[in-house]
Order: sequence, then C-alpha cells, then structure tokens
Amino acid sequence: MDIQFLGTGAGQPSKARNVSSLALKLLDEINEVWLFDCGEGTQNRILETTIRPRKVSKIFITHLHGDHIFGLPGFLSSRAFQANEEQTDLDIYGPQGIKSFVLTSLRVSGSRLPYRIHFHEFDQDSLGKILETDKFTVYAEELDHTIFCVGYRVMQKDLEGTLDAEKLKAAGVPFGPLFGKIKNSQDIVLEDGTEIKAADYISAPRPGKIITILGDTRKSNASVRLAVNADVLVHESTYGKGDEKIARNHGHSTNMQAAQVAAEAGAKRLLLNHISARFLSKDISQLKKDAASIFENVHVVKDLEEVEL
Ligand SMILES: [Zn+2]
Repeated sequence: MDIQFLGTGAGQPSKARNVSSLALKLLDEINEVWLFDCGEGTQNRILETTIRPRKVSKIFITHLHGDHIFGLPGFLSSRAFQANEEQTDLDIYGPQGIKSFVLTSLRVSGSRLPYRIHFHEFDQDSLGKILETDKFTVYAEELDHTIFCVGYRVMQKDLEGTLDAEKLKAAGVPFGPLFGKIKNSQDIVLEDGTEIKAADYISAPRPGKIITILGDTRKSNASVRLAVNADVLVHESTYGKGDEKIARNHGHSTNMQAAQVAAEAGAKRLLLNHISARFLSKDISQLKKDAASIFENVHVVKDLEEVEL
C-alpha cells in the first residue's frame, strides 16, 4: 500500500507543484488505485508514474473548488482511450453537484465514455460510512472550509493470520488438505493420535491500516475524529506559523494547526500537502521544523513523491 502525490500545491499550479490530487495505491491488496481529488493536469502527472488509468477504480472528491476537480473530464476521457484493455466501471464519490459537473463537461464536449460511471453523491445529512467492501470501509465527515468539504477515513479491515507451514511440517502434518483445515481454524488429530491445535499454527490477525485524507479545512474537531489513531494523516498546510488569522479567513490551516490535529488524534504520521507557491525550499524546511515542535513525525510532501504505508 502506497500513497503517491500527484499534485501538492494550493489553489493554482506552479512549476514545482500541480493542483490537488493523490493516488492511494492498493495494488497488492485489491489490485486497484483510488484517486483523491483530481485537479487540472492530474492525467499529465499520472503519465510520469507507473499508474495505469484503467486501474483507477474509485475517485473520491473532497469539495467542488476548481483546483480539486477540473482534471476530471480530461482524466475520464483519456481513461477511455486505452486500446486492447477491458473497459471497467468507475465509482465517483463526492459532494452533491459532482455528477452534474462531470456529465455536463462530457456532454457539451461531445465525449462518450465506453465504461460506466457510478456516482455516489452526499450532502451534510448523508455522511458517515460511504463505502464498505470486504477489505475496506470508508467514512466521510464534514470539515470547515468556505464551501461544503469533507475528509475521508479509509479503514482497512484486519488481516487474517498466516499459517506457519514450517512449524506444521516439523509437527509431522503432511502437506495437503490438512493444511487447509488448520487454516480454517479447525483442530485436527493425526493418524498417530497427535492433536494439532490450529491456533498454535496461525499468527494473530494483523490490524488493518487507517489512512486519513482531508480536504481543505480550518482546524476542526471533525479532522481530529477522522484521524484518530491513523497510520497516516494527510493534512493541508496552505499557511505557515503565525498566519493563523489569514488561514481562518480563507478557510485553511497552518502547518502548526495540522500538527495539533495529528497530535490530538494520536496519529502516527503526518504528511503536509496543499502547499502555497509562496513557499520556497528554505521555507519548506522551516514549515516542517515548526510543525515538528508539536508533532515530530511530520513531512512536507512533493509532487510525484511516493510514501509507503
Ligand atoms: Zn478549496
């Protein structure tokens, strides 16, 4: 499981940072990639990665500001042009209005897609659990921005324990159907009368990962709730230390507020994105240093950077 950042800038693209988008790569887990936001030029950024657009099965939109959605029509259209590949459906989750934005863009531009899009729109009253599969559950909660905006909490379900094949062989269990029985937690008795307790040969289930990805927001209690015990929290940092007032006025956060959220939530790791083009490289190291005084495990991400979870 990895997160690859496709655009880490705030508001408008700069040479170094494109507008918002990131890919949660779940290739080992479910052979899918989930996109979070899709600012203009996201498809160009994807060309610089190993991500195959066809693998993008779900797109989650945090809010309808242009720097988070203007890349959708282009990405969706290009996704149709991959010859010799099966056309697979796609799900889009987002605030009410996302469906009309996408369908209008496709209609007026005469774009026809050879695959289906399933829209899952929500508003203030229909948040909470928005998706559950056999391996993941996704929750959304409203943040505090200038328009309706949400954050997502992606929870991987606990992973089954694995069978210790070497230990079973050593105990005299012949390789074959008995292994399957033990894997299904069934105790068995060997021909010589030896009792084999399945629990002794299966490792404990591993807790699934928790990934919290927030849209634009002022510091809010919802952010903390979404990030409780998260393995990783992706939080915007449009402003720096001392800019709390201007951040509030514009519906954004500073690096310090992001760090406070991570600390209050007991998150393990904080990744700062949505970085203003005003910040030069020396400012970026300062952003990190200042935030680290509140929450140590913090990092300011760059475009195309890949973070293993
Ligand atoms: Zn915004």
